[in-house]
Amino acid sequence: MSSLAILNQCIACDACRDVCPTQAIHIGEPIYTIMQQKCILCAGYAENPSCIEVCPVDAIIYTTKNMEQT
Ligand code: SF4
Ligand code: SF4
Repeated sequence: MSSLAILNQCIACDACRDVCPTQAIHIGEPIYTIMQQKCILCAGYAENPSCIEVCPVDAIIYTTKNMEQT
């Protein structure tokens, strides 16, 4: 199953956190992180992951690896 990860190019703009329906995105140091347990890939809320849609620097990507960050 795929999940999402936030890359180092994150500029901590806070846009993704605002649109996440499950509060899965947390402010990290130095970049934001997605809690895999909470991320539902926006199922039932949006056609595509809202966080990917709003990220201005395309820092959020799909990953098939287990890159769990807390
Ligand atoms: S895909 Fe949706 S649920 Fe998952 S972190 Fe992004 S906004 Fe939140
Ligand atoms: S929208 Fe993109 S750049 Fe902004 S905080 Fe989220 S991951 Fe970082």
